[in-house]
Amino acid sequence: MSVPFYNFQKLHDEKFQKDIMNRFEEIVSQNAFVEGKYNFSFEERFSKMQNAKNTLLLANGTDALEIALLAYGVGHGDKVGVAAISFYATAECVYNVGATPVFIDVDPKSGLICVESTKRMVEKHNLKAIIPVHIYGQPAPIEELEKVCEKHDVKIIEDGAQSQGGFYQNGKPIGSSKHITTFSFYPTKNLGAFGDAGAVTLADSELTEKIKSIRNHGRSPNGHALIGRNSRCDHMQAAVLDLKLDSIEEQNKMRKQVASWYYEALEGVAIRIPPKEMLELSSWHLFPIGLNSRDQKYAAQDYLRSKEIGCTLFYEKALPEEAPIINVEGEREHAIHFAQTTLCIPMNPFISKDEVVKVAQEIKNFLAQ
Ligand SMILES: *Cc1c(COP(=O)(O)O)cnc(C)c1O
Repeated sequence: MSVPFYNFQKLHDEKFQKDIMNRFEEIVSQNAFVEGKYNFSFEERFSKMQNAKNTLLLANGTDALEIALLAYGVGHGDKVGVAAISFYATAECVYNVGATPVFIDVDPKSGLICVESTKRMVEKHNLKAIIPVHIYGQPAPIEELEKVCEKHDVKIIEDGAQSQGGFYQNGKPIGSSKHITTFSFYPTKNLGAFGDAGAVTLADSELTEKIKSIRNHGRSPNGHALIGRNSRCDHMQAAVLDLKLDSIEEQNKMRKQVASWYYEALEGVAIRIPPKEMLELSSWHLFPIGLNSRDQKYAAQDYLRSKEIGCTLFYEKALPEEAPIINVEGEREHAIHFAQTTLCIPMNPFISKDEVVKVAQEIKNFLAQ
């Protein structure tokens, strides 16, 4: 029995393929290739799901981060606090608007941004904004971060690339806060397009108009009003996302079921697993486990793969260990250890209880060697 990490075959089953081909035929027959009816339908329905005032589709999740920074007026000379466990784009976007990142360390149990480290970095570096990441789908502690940031007028941009359908600690959907939350719909995310797409959710109507303009070359009803860019979302991608919205909440529930089986099957095993309170909150994009050392992590990966269990390193290195950004200021101690020891085991909506039991058994077999 092999246990795949992703399962696109089941995700894009025969019925889905038929439905999406119908939509593509419709788009082709109408020559409606950008910002068509499925863009508007998706934006409205995603807002409802995330309990957000507005959703704006964009070309990808990295653009969403960059455009959020631009919308808040972050640019040359500014410093932006970045959670040190994330995908590279979370730091890259800061450079691409001309600002400089400062790393903020993470909680050693969850990999989520550490509030104490945030406080120190905000006070020391006069940050203009911070980017907490809802990493693996778990919610970053936004209310606590707000207390730190509001005192110093620091903007918060939530990187929700992995958290479609996840919830904050207060039970409200991620993306419903007063901040700009960014999403990626890269194909492997919980809600994935057939290529690149992204979005922001936000409440502020002025910022909403500004981002609408930025994504379409600075256009306004009376000509071009600012220097923007092209970050429109293709109609075909919007059609895929809008169709997948029909099942995303059900699929996230299936991910949560898989996570609860993992908690059961891994009870008492000598590895780090996500904090139990995440069960009800996370979108369960990934299920990270922590080994004792980097060597043990690589050995576990080899062992599990030899048993046909898909596993992947998210992330092979903490951001401050990536060569182009290695000398960046900030804190990183826990993040480096976290990245060195973390391995992600199969997580998708189509994993059975038997498969979870097999993965857990093989982890135990590995540790007993
Ligand atoms: C995927 C991802 C991004 C980037 O999104 P793209 O759509 O690939 O540009 C940013 N941040 C995090 C945490 C991600 O997982």
